[in-house]
Amino acid sequence: MSRASEASSMPVAVKVHVSTGQGMEITWADGHHSHYEFAYLRDRCPCAVCTGEHGIAPASAPPSPLPLYKPRATARAASAVGHYAVQFDFSDGHSTGIFSFDYLRGICPCESCRSASSAP
Ligand SMILES: [Zn+2]
Ligand SMILES: [Zn+2]
Repeated sequence: MSRASEASSMPVAVKVHVSTGQGMEITWADGHHSHYEFAYLRDRCPCAVCTGEHGIAPASAPPSPLPLYKPRATARAASAVGHYAVQFDFSDGHSTGIFSFDYLRGICPCESCRSASSAP
């Protein structure tokens, strides 16, 4: 049990603001705080349909020259999946995405995480 780095993907507090549409907040065991907009999470849904893992293009996301017309996703509900993940029921009817805390920590949109990840 010497893997101290696991604390970075362990939530100590999770708040999902479904009624206000303000997204989700997570406080991590290492003291880091993350805030995710629902639209941000919807765009990064890790399920097979959205990531195209099985070669199926997402029917609900055709390439559009007018991205501004895309309705902004919110969540109608959220539920815990065991102790390791959260599942959302998004406003566009999509609900198969399961966001593990490990994944959520990896997509934390805060400035320090974005600058720490050297993604182009
Ligand atoms: Zn999905
Ligand atoms: Zn962060």
